[in-house]
Amino acid sequence: DIARENLTYDGFGSAVRELAQTIADDGYEPDIVVSIARGGVFVAGGLAYALDCKNIHLVNVEFYTGIGTTLEMPVMLAPVPNVIDFSGKKVLIADDVADTGKTLKLVHDFCVEHVAEVRSAVIYEKSHSLVKCEYVWKRTDDWINFPWSVEPPVVRREGQVLDA
Ligand code: 5GP
Repeated sequence: DIARENLTYDGFGSAVRELAQTIADDGYEPDIVVSIARGGVFVAGGLAYALDCKNIHLVNVEFYTGIGTTLEMPVMLAPVPNVIDFSGKKVLIADDVADTGKTLKLVHDFCVEHVAEVRSAVIYEKSHSLVKCEYVWKRTDDWINFPWSVEPPVVRREGQVLDA
């Protein structure tokens, strides 16, 4: 049986505040948080509030098809943000985990040409990640259960129709 790292919503709340504190202590004040959907959306929202940054952009990247199974390469799905919006800005890329690091590298390379500065923040980073993020809450090599994806999607129940 493979080891699992279990993050709860409570644990996530503390993690994202601690991660933001590290970024603030480092003196980095991003103009834009770029979130990598879907897992990075939670992280981006938490960081943007904690860092008092009101500008969040989103990129959709598809890579994992199951636990430990991936496409050959991550792909950015349409619509991609307009890079013009990033010009001269300090950007913080937010994601849940840098595993292979391929997803973060894709988004980093997409942003880096156009911005003043780009740094990355993740809750978890694995030791084999080809990208070394500036801000990491915790290092692990286990498969992580995130609170938003540990349970399957809800299914519609019978007999739950509400009156208008
Ligand atoms: P990477 O491109 O760094 O290999 O993977 C990035 C994305 O894959 C993450 O944003 C996440 O959605 C998914 N992923 C990678 N490793 C894990 C893991 O240990 N647990 C979960 N739940 N998702 C993962």
